[in-house]
Amino acid sequence: MSEQTPSIFTKIINREIPAEILFENDRLIAIRDIAPQAPMHLLVIPKSENFQNVTELAAGDPQLLAEIVSTAHNLATLHSNGEYRLVFNTGESAGQTVFHVHAHVLSGGLQEHTLA
Ligand code: 5GP
Repeated sequence: MSEQTPSIFTKIINREIPAEILFENDRLIAIRDIAPQAPMHLLVIPKSENFQNVTELAAGDPQLLAEIVSTAHNLATLHSNGEYRLVFNTGESAGQTVFHVHAHVLSGGLQEHTLA
């Protein structure tokens, strides 16, 4: 997958394709990853397509990045044990496939796992 407009996540936000939505407000959405790599694997995604990766997001809207972190914490507390791994793949060679910034929130049974 490469850069697409609208992104697959925008299509989910617009209800053009289905997803299990766990949280939504005016600025972000949280869904279950379609290919989970841990017992709990969520994606927290800004609704804006303005930022391709976390570096751009941190520079352009640090408050929104902070909201992603607090949403990840809240969801890991609600849906798991409150302990989690927060991952932003940045760049193709690092495994990023969707160039609409998103946080992976992984929880449960991670001691034996590394994230691909
Ligand atoms: P990346 O590789 O860009 O860091 O992460 C993209 C993530 O989006 C992958 O973990 C992939 O499984 C997930 N994903 C891709 N398409 C869909 C989809 O249509 N629905 C959901 N729920 N997740 C998706």
